Amino acid sequence: MYRPRACCAGLLIRRCALSCSLLLASTAVCAAANYEVMVSADLATLTVEAQFPAPAPQALEAQDGSARKYLGHVRINGRTVGSPVQLDGSIALPRGGESSLVNYTVDLRAIARARRFPELGAAGEHAVLTAPDAWLWLPPVGDRQPITLRFQLPEGMSVSAPWPQRLDSEDAAIFAIGTTPRDWPALVAIGRFEMEAVEVSGAKLRLAVLEGRPAPDQAAIRKWIGEGAAAVAGAYGLFPLDAPQVLVVPLGRGVEPVPWGQVLRGGGAAAQLFIDQTRPAEEFRADWVLVHELSHMLHPNLHEDGEWLAEGLATYYQNVLRARSGVLAAPQAWQKLHDGFQRGMGETEAGVTLNEATHDMLKRRLFMRVYWSGAAMALIADLQLRRNGQSLDRVLSRFHDCCLAEPRMWLAAEFLETLDGLAGMPVFMPLYRRFVDSDQFPDLALPYAELGLEVRGRRVVPGGNVDAAALRRAIMGRATQ
Ligand SMILES: [Zn+2]
Repeated sequence: MYRPRACCAGLLIRRCALSCSLLLASTAVCAAANYEVMVSADLATLTVEAQFPAPAPQALEAQDGSARKYLGHVRINGRTVGSPVQLDGSIALPRGGESSLVNYTVDLRAIARARRFPELGAAGEHAVLTAPDAWLWLPPVGDRQPITLRFQLPEGMSVSAPWPQRLDSEDAAIFAIGTTPRDWPALVAIGRFEMEAVEVSGAKLRLAVLEGRPAPDQAAIRKWIGEGAAAVAGAYGLFPLDAPQVLVVPLGRGVEPVPWGQVLRGGGAAAQLFIDQTRPAEEFRADWVLVHELSHMLHPNLHEDGEWLAEGLATYYQNVLRARSGVLAAPQAWQKLHDGFQRGMGETEAGVTLNEATHDMLKRRLFMRVYWSGAAMALIADLQLRRNGQSLDRVLSRFHDCCLAEPRMWLAAEFLETLDGLAGMPVFMPLYRRFVDSDQFPDLALPYAELGLEVRGRRVVPGGNVDAAALRRAIMGRATQ
């Protein structure tokens, strides 16, 4: 899971289920199913009590096929059930439409072991990381009852989860479940840590910094997250999502400040950053992973065929947005883009198309080819839009306004067609058709000429006329908007 310098944008998902919210939109409001989740003081066990008003569902399902292994006692309407899980993997509930009460226990440590989550403190006394797909048994997708989930936590404990929090509740641990497809992965942390709201340009990031040895510097991490989010708001003046979960997990000494980061979309958008908390604040500020991960929130959940696109956008913006925020000087940012394009070209082989490289990226270690081909296409698109009085920022801003919050998966071509529609001109689809089945790295000679970027040995030197300088400033300048 903790591969260095790789990144997952929640793309390793093939199926796309119907969203409960779409189903709910077409039906009358029905009474909510209520889940109470009690957490044991040693963080070893969850006890779940799920109450379904009539008409109750006829079965419960967990997304993880191994979920039955973590189940302890199960009682249905007060009666213990010896073998609750049927051959099809579901738990059957009484037929007849009556209300149902289901109680079950879950072995949290077994889930953490099976998923190879890191130990957070000796014997996990500080916090536990868990995956709700392994313990949250829910009515089938077509069921129309809304679901609320409330954690009952031991004194001094908090929960960090991606689900939307109930706005009508003072209690921070009540969530609405079922707003995204079930098979999108998520992480929930429970334990002794503080939840903090980091307010950035219209958003409230729900930050949790877990305990570690040595203890992480909470204030420094909060500042780092706030600055990274503010940099991403530099794309179009708003942080793209309202209240993402941001989970920081200190792992102790590592080879870099953030050995692993990822964005998951299950339940709601979430960024997870696994850090070496022993490093000084300036190393975190200089590191690219946080801005890269948060830049994934500028695009929707893309099907794995669009991994080059997701990674390309995040890779382009990790440099552009750090320059705009002042973390990188503009010439440094151009150099980083140039270095990346060179690495991408170095991995581009005759006979291997971008589509094939994307499909085989993990197996053949073609990360640079995939990430930087996408970044080159983002630069080419941005220049074409700017030639026509627009920009990539502006088109993504329009996408934010129309479509970003929809809890659905997008194919690469579908997303790019939508961007062309929002731009009012064909920019993205022609690039897609030209490069996705090509074994060539996108040609950057004309973009470099337009930007006045001159290659001298390994360096790229900004020059050219006033138009080129203005174009570079429009992309990397601090006052862009
Ligand atoms: Zn990424």
